[in-house]
Amino acid sequence: MAAFQTAQVVLLYGNLQYMDNDNNTVSPSSRRERGLKFWQVARRVCQLAAAVDISFFFLFHFLGSPILAWINVGSVALYAAAYVALERRQNRLAIALIWLEVIIHSALGTIMLGWGSGFHYYLLMFIPALCISSVRRGTIYSLIVGLWGYYIGLDILMWFIEPFQPISSGALFGVHLFNLSVVFAMFAYLSFFYMNMVVSAQRKLRKLATVDSLTGLFNRSHGSDLAENEIARFRRAKHPVAFMLLDVDHFKSINDRYGHEMGDKILAEIGQLIPAQLRTQDIVARWGGEEFLVILPDTGIESALASAERIRSAFRSHDWKAATSEAVAVTISIGVSEMCENDDRGSVISRADRALYRGKAGGRNRVEQGEALEQ
Ligand code: GH3
Ligand code: MG
Ligand code: MG
Repeated sequence: MAAFQTAQVVLLYGNLQYMDNDNNTVSPSSRRERGLKFWQVARRVCQLAAAVDISFFFLFHFLGSPILAWINVGSVALYAAAYVALERRQNRLAIALIWLEVIIHSALGTIMLGWGSGFHYYLLMFIPALCISSVRRGTIYSLIVGLWGYYIGLDILMWFIEPFQPISSGALFGVHLFNLSVVFAMFAYLSFFYMNMVVSAQRKLRKLATVDSLTGLFNRSHGSDLAENEIARFRRAKHPVAFMLLDVDHFKSINDRYGHEMGDKILAEIGQLIPAQLRTQDIVARWGGEEFLVILPDTGIESALASAERIRSAFRSHDWKAATSEAVAVTISIGVSEMCENDDRGSVISRADRALYRGKAGGRNRVEQGEALEQ
């Protein structure tokens, strides 16, 4: 019986694995890793389920239901076959064998001991398993209707026939309570399991939507949203907020000389270097190819200029060879502006951009302050 529990976890998780196989956003290597881990677990589950069924062989002999005891031998054979299939990477076959075991075992348990044994409850676990499977919606509906027919058919059958091998009412009551409790536990476990899957998938999606994959910094769209938040805070509570636009100098030449891959390595390194010079509340976003936006909450122009200078000199003193294995010199130009009363997001960033342009025109590797705004 407990074998059902473990087997159902496999059924459900097996479905999720198939779902995962269709999910292109997960990298193939991490998918493979997780896949391997899952099928290892599945093999162990088969061993465990078979071991439990062997112990039930003796228990049902003791309870006076030899046929049910021998059914467990059949179950062990199915789990052994599923195990071999898993060893041979015939995963779909393994899942099918485990499904078959649960379907047959729950029906035979019911027919042998009666409806009161509660073996039929295990069939209900197929409902969530089917609903989250990756097969077509129409197929899911048909399978659920089929399951309903099977369940109702079994119920009707038990109205008309007596159990083939009844056990004492005390033992039946024990089996009933056990099965009911296991099914309760399974539903709770699987619901939590599914919930965790959904929450972690949501977290991953949110990250994909807000983070630039090369640098690990916020992407432009999320950077814009965060800039708006800070501007709203500025308007509400008059908290100063400063902006920096940073652009790597002669990055095209670096690409041309060392290759695009090296350019990517440098950008990834910059994704760590800039935040390392700032406070945790400062926001760094990749604004374009080799251009970055920094938002400095609660910061006036003087402190912002000091932070920019810190970043500029960090670029100069950084050991780029350690990260790129090339003695490449990377410098950055930075334009800084502070939010004023008449500013909006566009205008305050434009002033930083114009300052950046002046920095470029003035020879690069420098920090420039945006022009003051007429109040
Ligand atoms: P300047 O000092 O005036 O900023 O010169 P620059 O060469 O940095 O500026 P330009 O705008 O001419 O070139 C930017 C280069 O950045 C060109 C583009 O190929 C490169 N770039 C943009 N995005 C990426 C990226 O994701 N990876 C790599 N490797 N290069 C990129
Ligand atoms: Mg550049
Ligand atoms: Mg640029």
